[in-house]
Amino acid sequence: MAAPKPPDLGDGNGRSFAAVVAARSAAAIVDEGIGEISLYRGEPALRLSRQEMQTLAAPYRNALVGRFPSIRPSMEAVRKFFVSLGLKGECAVGLLDQRHILIRPVLEEDYTRLFLRRTWFVKNAPMVVAKWTLDFKSNQEPSVVPIWVAFPGLPIPFFGKNQIFKLAATLGRVLKVDSASSDLRRPSVARVLVEMDVSKEPVKRIYIGDDDYGFWQAVEVENWPAFCKFCDRVGHLEGDCFKKNPGLKPSGSNRENPRRKGKESEPRQIALGEGRDNGEGPTNPTQGGE
Ligand SMILES: [Zn+2]
Repeated sequence: MAAPKPPDLGDGNGRSFAAVVAARSAAAIVDEGIGEISLYRGEPALRLSRQEMQTLAAPYRNALVGRFPSIRPSMEAVRKFFVSLGLKGECAVGLLDQRHILIRPVLEEDYTRLFLRRTWFVKNAPMVVAKWTLDFKSNQEPSVVPIWVAFPGLPIPFFGKNQIFKLAATLGRVLKVDSASSDLRRPSVARVLVEMDVSKEPVKRIYIGDDDYGFWQAVEVENWPAFCKFCDRVGHLEGDCFKKNPGLKPSGSNRENPRRKGKESEPRQIALGEGRDNGEGPTNPTQGGE
């Protein structure tokens, strides 16, 4: 039924006025996009810098990816699950591919809450939450995760919320400060939740001062999770990796989800990745579906 498209976008071919307008605005829209239409080694290319890509990605700074290592419930069930969480703001949820969903909470507070609990259960199906980044690939897991950081013995003048945020921002994106820290109820230990790259060694100290005077402030990280450089997943070390060492995989049915067929399951490793949200106080123990 669909006629072949006319090769030119001109208006002399019986095209409606609307079609011509649409064609014009499409060109205008192309102009507004970022990047230069070009060639790269003889093949079509959209040339833009990493910085420009970051600009494009800026609206997604609160985006998370939910991965379903075993089975993914229907999107209807997934959306219901997010409604049941009672988040403070809007949260769009969409399918990325068969195993991954994109979660876009508007509020940073909701983002932090979702990100802080590494594994959620949607209708009993585990969903592992990770940060969405420009480099998201479905077979890798970003190594940036929220980590509670303490600054033991931090001098009192640095306890103001702004100052603690500033100090912690030397380590990564700051998500929140322990409420006891910013009002000096517990001046001995200031704690801040920061996004850190756990594929690297944890930072042990920060220099505070200038060239003339300063001091090293100790940094203590809580529950620094293992990161496997072999399969790019948080929660286990390379030496414990089932993918690298299939012989390590326990035989028979697994304890946590006996109904699941073996294919690509990683039950023990998921379990290891949990429990990072200690100290967070009354983290809502909602574990999803019934
Ligand atoms: Zn691994």
